[in-house]
Amino acid sequence: MSMNKQRIPTQERTPEERNRDFFEVNLGYTKEDAVLEAERCLQCKNPLCVKGCPVGIDIPGFIAELKNDNLSESAKILKTYNYLPAICGRVCPQENQCEGACILNKMKDNEPVSIGKLEKYVADWERENKTLTVSVHAKVDKRIAIIGSGPSGLTCAAYLAERGYDCTVFEALHLAGGVLVYGIPEFRLPKRIVQNEIDAIKKLGVKIETDIIVGKTTTMEELKEAFDAIFIGIGAGTPRMMGIPGSELIGIYSSSEFLTRINLMKSYRFPYFDTPVRTGKHVIVVGGGNVAMDAARSALRLGEADVKVIYRRTESEIPARIEEYHHAVEEGIDFHWLTNPVEYIGENGRLKAVKVQKMALGEPDSSGRRRPVPIKGAFEIFETDTVIEAIGQTPNKVLLETIPALQLNRWGNIDADEKMQTSMCGVFAGGDIVTGAATVIEAMGAGKTAAKSIIEYLEK
Ligand code: FAD
Ligand code: SF4
Repeated sequence: MSMNKQRIPTQERTPEERNRDFFEVNLGYTKEDAVLEAERCLQCKNPLCVKGCPVGIDIPGFIAELKNDNLSESAKILKTYNYLPAICGRVCPQENQCEGACILNKMKDNEPVSIGKLEKYVADWERENKTLTVSVHAKVDKRIAIIGSGPSGLTCAAYLAERGYDCTVFEALHLAGGVLVYGIPEFRLPKRIVQNEIDAIKKLGVKIETDIIVGKTTTMEELKEAFDAIFIGIGAGTPRMMGIPGSELIGIYSSSEFLTRINLMKSYRFPYFDTPVRTGKHVIVVGGGNVAMDAARSALRLGEADVKVIYRRTESEIPARIEEYHHAVEEGIDFHWLTNPVEYIGENGRLKAVKVQKMALGEPDSSGRRRPVPIKGAFEIFETDTVIEAIGQTPNKVLLETIPALQLNRWGNIDADEKMQTSMCGVFAGGDIVTGAATVIEAMGAGKTAAKSIIEYLEK
C-alpha cells in the first residue's frame, strides 16, 4: 500500500465565514480521515516524536489504537500522560515539539504526522462517548494547597488527587483555567472543552475554590497552617508595556485586559454581557507571539475595524504558532514587519495615531534571533483608534510581595530547582511563574514534576 506523503488535511471554516464570529476555526478530522492520517505513522521502534513531547506521551501507541478503531484505549493512553489532551491537541506548538521531531520530516517530500490533530480527534471522541472511568488510589491523609488554576496547577492537583491526596486549588478569578479561559480565545479553544477537562479533574476529587486571591483574601501563613504542602502556579499575568510617550491616552490596551474582557467577560456579546470593548475603525496590535495573534484576530471579529500587526522583527522570527499566523493572514490581518512604535499621538486625550520606527535586522542576540536595530531617521505614522500591546508578560506581584522570604531570580520569577522545590520548605512552584511566559505543555510538565516532588517530600 502506498502511503500518503502529505498530511491529510482537517476541515476548517473559510476565512470569510469565521472572521466575524468566535466559533472554532478548525473542525477537526472525520473518522475516515483520522484513520488515514494515523496510517501514515511508521510506528517507529525508537520514536523521535515522543522525545519531542515535553510530557513524553506514547504517541505511536495512541496512534496505533486509533488506527485499529480502539478509540477508548487510545484515549486512555493519552490521559495516562496528559490530563488535558483536548486542550493540548489544539494549542501546543507541535511544529517545535512532537511533529518537529517526527522522522517523516527527514524523508524526501514527506510531511510529519499530524499528531496534534489526531490527539484532538481522540480527546474529542472521548468527550462525546465518555468511555473512561475514574480510578483513584486509597485516600492519603495529607492536604495540599494549589495556588492558581492554570495548566500547571490543574496538572499538579490531578496527579496528586489520582494518588489519593487531598487537593484544594485556590483561584483568584471567578472561573478556573488560567490563560486557557481568560487568554486563549473561544475560536481556538472553546471554553466548554476546557470546562470538560476541568470537570474530569474534579471527578478525581480535586476541590476548586474560585474568587480567592492568595495574598489578599487569604494568606500564605494561613495556608501553611492548614496544609501539608503548597504548590504555587500563579502564571505570568502582569502585562509588560511599551512605556513610550502618549501611553496614557485613551485607546491603549494591554493584551491581558483586551483578551480578558473578550474571553472571560464575553464582551463580544455586549449588551447581553455588560463589558463592552470599542475598537473604533483602525486597530494596531504590537507583537509577534500567540498573544498578539489572538488579540488581532479577536479585534477583527468584533467587526468594526481593520487590524494591523506591527512587529519589530520579520515573519521568520515570529514566536507565534505557525497555524495561528497562517490563520491570521487568511482572515485579513495586515502584517507590518520591522516596525516598532516610538510614540502615541493623541487629540483631546484620545489616541489618533502611532509613530513607528523602521527597523533592520542586525547581529543575533542572546535568543539566537537577529536583533532589530533602528534605521536612523526612518519613521512612519499609522492612523489608529486602538492599540493593543502584546509584548510579553511578567509575574503578578500580589502574592509574591507578601512572602519576601521566597527567593526570586533576577527576572522576578520564583527560583525553583529541577524538582520544582522553592527556597521555602514544603513550598513548590512551576509554570510561567518560574520560567516566565512559556507554553501550556511546559506548565503541565512542571505541575507533574512538582506533584512527584511533593509526594517525595510528604513521604519523608
Ligand atoms: P496561568 O495559565 O497563567 O494560570 C495562573 C492562574 O493563577 C490564573 O488563573 C490566575 O488568575 C491565578 N492566580 C494568579 N495569582 C493568584 C493569587 N495570588 N491567588 C490565586 N490565584 C492566582 N501556550 C501554548 O502552549 N499554546 C498557545 O497557543 C498559547 N497561546 C497563548 C495565548 C495567550 C493570549 C496567552 C496569554 C498565553 C498563551 N500561551 C500559549 C501560554 C500559556 O497559556 C501559558 O504558558 C500557560 O497558561 C501557563 O500556565 P500556568 O499554570 O503557569 O499559569
Ligand atoms: Fe509515527 Fe512520526 Fe512518531 Fe515515528 S516519529 S512514531 S512516524 S509520529
